[in-house]
Amino acid sequence: MDFKLTDEQVKLRKEVFDVCEKLAKERPEGFTGLEGVYDTDEGWEYHLRCAKEFAKRGWLSLEWPSEYGGRGTIMDKVFLAEATGYHDVPGVDIFGVLMLAPTLFAAASEEIKKEFLPSIASGERMWCELWTEPNAGSDLAALSTSAVRQGDEYVINGQKIWSTGAHRAHWAFALVRTDPHADRKQKGITFILFDMKTPGVTVNPLLYMDSGHLYNEVFLDDVRVPVKNIVGEENQGWGVTQTLASFERSNLGAIMAMHRQLEDMVNYCNETKVKGEPLARNPLIRNRLAQIACELWAAHALAYRIADAQSRKEMAAFDASAVKVFSGELQARMAQFGTDILGPYGQVKHSKWASFEGFYEKWYQQSFILNISMGTNEIQRNIIAWYGLGLPRMK
Ligand SMILES: Cc1cc2nc3c(=O)[nH]c(=O)nc-3n(C[C@H](O)[C@H](O)[C@H](O)COP(=O)(O)OP(=O)(O)OC[C@H]3O[C@@H](n4cnc5c(N)ncnc54)[C@H](O)[C@@H]3O)c2cc1C
Repeated sequence: MDFKLTDEQVKLRKEVFDVCEKLAKERPEGFTGLEGVYDTDEGWEYHLRCAKEFAKRGWLSLEWPSEYGGRGTIMDKVFLAEATGYHDVPGVDIFGVLMLAPTLFAAASEEIKKEFLPSIASGERMWCELWTEPNAGSDLAALSTSAVRQGDEYVINGQKIWSTGAHRAHWAFALVRTDPHADRKQKGITFILFDMKTPGVTVNPLLYMDSGHLYNEVFLDDVRVPVKNIVGEENQGWGVTQTLASFERSNLGAIMAMHRQLEDMVNYCNETKVKGEPLARNPLIRNRLAQIACELWAAHALAYRIADAQSRKEMAAFDASAVKVFSGELQARMAQFGTDILGPYGQVKHSKWASFEGFYEKWYQQSFILNISMGTNEIQRNIIAWYGLGLPRMK
């Protein structure tokens, strides 16, 4: 692939970075990443405000076909992921913009696309993903939430878990079992959309160990959803799921956030002296900084490769798995490195002794998340082994 950008792309990339830099100045105090978006009312309002700013410039639908208001190029979308990641600015709904929209283009009827895409492009409707259940995580096809057809509606009953942002989201895309008698568990699953305000939907918080509220369990009791809200065909939801999962795993925002953190860490090491010598002169620290820089650029190149493959509609499932594994584990190594360098200061926040406003205290605790969410890294390695390397499938 050719990484060289056209003049028009260079201009757009600069514009996107400039707007994000400006929006970053309006960030509520203590706002970081996904926790910033979902944990507080202030953070959620900031997220919606940023979404409106992007929407009015057409940036939430950049890569969409022109009949839906897009310009049709995936690389344009890459710039927004880079700029929001680098400046830690929200506004791009990971579920609606990054996962559901491309899935609708790949699998939904025209009617569904016309009904649901405009409110994603305008940043007005935010989404959550209701897939995982207490007994269906890695083995997602074991899900048991049932949807029984009654006339023009499904009646849905079951429980979902680890539902990121479900307490804020307006709508959900869910997986439900419509045929419990199918000969394989992957058959008989349907992909369906519903309003989180539908009677029978109850959202309970699952607080993070630092008490942040990002995750939830969601109970569905006789939730009535119109049959017309399914994506793809009834009982064929597994195929739709596979399409969406590959969009879910391309991790460019997180990679750009790490570039920023590396820059900040380099500045810190240049400015901070121990026994009269800047940390930047310590060979062990220089070595680890250089190692992280190498790995970060490798992750960046992998993510660009995915964007290129997506734009040519040639993306293999294991491409996204590879970048997900590599960037997720790099994130954990960076968090570990940051806390090592800061020493005892890395363990405090809300204190005058906290470096980086307590960022590493939080990040260290959260850094392993990427190794579990979006399908664990063990499962991604299985995908790479089967589809990428052609190794035999293990039962
Ligand atoms: C922070 C976070 C956010 C999440 N957000 C959402 C969300 O918004 N919506 C949603 O639907 N879900 C969400 N999830 C759920 C996530 O997708 C699941 O946690 C994940 O798929 C693993 O499922 P599980 O937790 O049931 O673990 P299990 O499937 O029980 O796995 C337990 C361990 O066994 C390993 N294992 C299991 N099977 C195999 C195998 N065949 N080979 C090798 N190792 C194996 C796993 O890798 C893991 O280490 C989120 C999870 C987290 C942690």
